[in-house]
Amino acid sequence: MTSNEIKALTGQYIMNTYGRFPVAIDHGQGATLYDPEGNAYIDFTSGIGVTDLGYGYQPWVDAITAQAKKLGHVSNLFYTEPAAKLAETLCKRTGENCVFFANGGGEANEGMIKLARKYSFDKYGKGRSTIITLNNSFHGRTITTLMATGQEVFHNYFFPFTEGFRYADANDLNSLEAAAGDDVCAVMMELVQGEGGVLPLDVEYVQAVKKLCEEKDWLLLADEVQTGVGRTGTLFAFQQYGILPDVVSFAKGIAGGLPMSGIMANEKCRSVLGPGTHATTFGANPVCAAAGLVVQETLSDAFLEEVKAKGEYLRKGIEALNLPCFGKTRGMGLMIGIEVKDGYNKSEIANKLIENGLLVLTAGPGMRLLPPLVITKEEMDKGLAIMKKALS
Ligand SMILES: *Cc1c(COP(=O)(O)O)cnc(C)c1O
Repeated sequence: MTSNEIKALTGQYIMNTYGRFPVAIDHGQGATLYDPEGNAYIDFTSGIGVTDLGYGYQPWVDAITAQAKKLGHVSNLFYTEPAAKLAETLCKRTGENCVFFANGGGEANEGMIKLARKYSFDKYGKGRSTIITLNNSFHGRTITTLMATGQEVFHNYFFPFTEGFRYADANDLNSLEAAAGDDVCAVMMELVQGEGGVLPLDVEYVQAVKKLCEEKDWLLLADEVQTGVGRTGTLFAFQQYGILPDVVSFAKGIAGGLPMSGIMANEKCRSVLGPGTHATTFGANPVCAAAGLVVQETLSDAFLEEVKAKGEYLRKGIEALNLPCFGKTRGMGLMIGIEVKDGYNKSEIANKLIENGLLVLTAGPGMRLLPPLVITKEEMDKGLAIMKKALS
C-alpha cells in the first residue's frame, strides 16, 4: 500500500484518538526508518522510548523467531524459561527481589498501586490508602493512573475517577510534607518526568523522600516506564540516585518493541501480592520475554556507558547549532529535552523536522528526544544536519 492509502484506511477504520504526524512507516534498519515510498527518516523517538535496539537488530529478530517457533503463549498457570530468566537478570542487576510481568506501562503502575495499598492494608488495616504523586507527572491512561497523574487536564470526562491521590510539587520536600497524613501509604514518582517535559528530579530531594518514606513506612514507588532499561545511561535511573525504591515499574523499552511491562519489588514487598490477588492473561509472554533477554544481553555496562556518551554528544551538538528556536538542553543519557524559545511552536518545529527527514517528539513545553540506544554517530550527525537545515 502507498502512504496515502494507509492514511485513508486508518482514517476510515481506526478511532481518531491520536494526533498523528502525516507519515506512514514501513520498515527500519538501525535508527533509520522508511516510509512505503522509500523515504528515510532518522529516528530520535524509538516509538516513544520503546525500540532501544533500533530496527532489524539481528539477535532480537532471531530470538523472537526461535521462541515463536517453540511456544508463542501459555498461561501463567504454567512455568516458562524466558520469563524466569528475565526476572532473574532484572533482580541481579538492580538489587530488587522479585518481578511481576504485565503488558503496558499504565497496567504496570496499576499493579504498583495495588501492591502499595495492600502492603498498608495487611499491616495497618483500612484507611491508609492515599498515594502522593508529583505535579506535572504522567503515570498512564487507565481510570486510576489518570488520577495518579499530577496534571489537571487529565482529570476530565471519565468520572468517577479512583480516589486516594494527592499531589506535591517536584523537588520540594516542604510540599511533600504538607501533603502527608495518616491516610498515606506511598509516594510515587518518575525520576525524570518524561511527558511533563524531561525534568530530572534532584538527587538530594529523592534521597530525602526515600528517608521520609522509611520514617513513615510509606512505600517509595518509582515509575521507570520511560526512564528504565538503559534510557538514562544506567539500567534504571534509580541507580544514579543512590536509592533502592520499594517498587519499580518498567515497560516501554523492556522488550525492544514487543508489548511487555512489569514491576520489581524489594524483599520487604515480596509477599504482598499473593496467589489470586493480581494477574494478567498475557503477562510474562515467552516471545516478549525472549526479546527482553536480548535487550538485557545487549545493555552491558560498557554499552550503558556509551549511552551516556552519546547523550552528551547529541546535547552538545544541538547546543552548538545555536538555533534561534532552541534554548538549553537537559536530561540524562539518551532522554533529552530541549527548551523551545518564546515565539516558537513545538508542534510546528516537530512537523518541520519530520518533513525534512528527522522524527522527534514533544513533551511539556518543549522538544523531547529518545533515540534508539544503538544509534550511531553517523545517524546522530545526520539528525543534527537536518536540524540545522530545517531550523536555521
Ligand atoms: C508511557 C508512560 C506510561 C504509560 O505507559 P503505557 O504503556 O502507555 O500504558 C506511564 N508512565 C510513564 C512515566 C510513561 O512514560
